[in-house]
Amino acid sequence: MTKDAKPAADDLVVLKGVNKHFGALHVLQDIDLTITRGEVVVVIGPSGSGKSTLCRTINRLETIDAGAISIDGKPLPQEGKELARLRADVGMVFQSFNLFAHKTVLENVMLGQTKVRRTPKAEAEEKARTLLDRVGVGSQADKYPAQLSGGQQQRVAIARALAMGPKVMLFDEPTSALDPEMINEVLEVMQQLARDGMTMVVVTHEMGFARSAANRVVFMSDGRIVEEAVPDQFFNNPRSDRAKDFLSKIL
Ligand code: ADP
Ligand code: MG
Repeated sequence: MTKDAKPAADDLVVLKGVNKHFGALHVLQDIDLTITRGEVVVVIGPSGSGKSTLCRTINRLETIDAGAISIDGKPLPQEGKELARLRADVGMVFQSFNLFAHKTVLENVMLGQTKVRRTPKAEAEEKARTLLDRVGVGSQADKYPAQLSGGQQQRVAIARALAMGPKVMLFDEPTSALDPEMINEVLEVMQQLARDGMTMVVVTHEMGFARSAANRVVFMSDGRIVEEAVPDQFFNNPRSDRAKDFLSKIL
């Protein structure tokens, strides 16, 4: 594609020539990545390779030094009202669940809707309850986060992100902080979301999930995308030495 060619209609998240430094550290180097509507992209790579920073630039939790990011055809601005609007199109789920401790589960899922989307309370509550049911924690609606297991809290965090009606969901190691027996209940919710057609970017070390849910695996190392492939090809036949080395350590 030439530089000024129009993006295809189903290109949802487009990064072009994205570069980012933290001081002397060149943490993202010439990142070109296009995520199409409905696609599930799993990002893997060694610790410190820039996976979290990549996610954080997509919803502008981090600024970029060079390049451009667009969401659904609109350039991601550095600040202002338009940024708030675009950011609401990008749901994010972190390793630490980041729920509001002094709000109930239901309130956690209603808050963004009423404050950012200006959804009327009754409507926000109905949507929150529907989503909590969908992620399997409907019966926990009136509890506080600390009363829930880690797996339940993470599912609430997913419901909260979905409540904003995002066009794309970013997951940054959503199961890394969980006890092993709770990992699957969260991955199953994500699998279902993928089957329902949600566009997803998932940073994870769960290779089973990558194999079964991903349309594409993106392998990062030292701030670069080193390799991109469908899961079968990536896991069975990695091309780069760095990917081979990484896989030999984790599989
Ligand atoms: P990953 O998620 O792949 O482990 P990160 O994106 O978190 O990698 O980090 C990439 C590199 O950037 C690491 O060397 C990390 O220490 C550094 N880094 C991340 N965030 C910051 C920050 N806010 N300030 C300075 N360095 C940072
Ligand atoms: Mg990380």
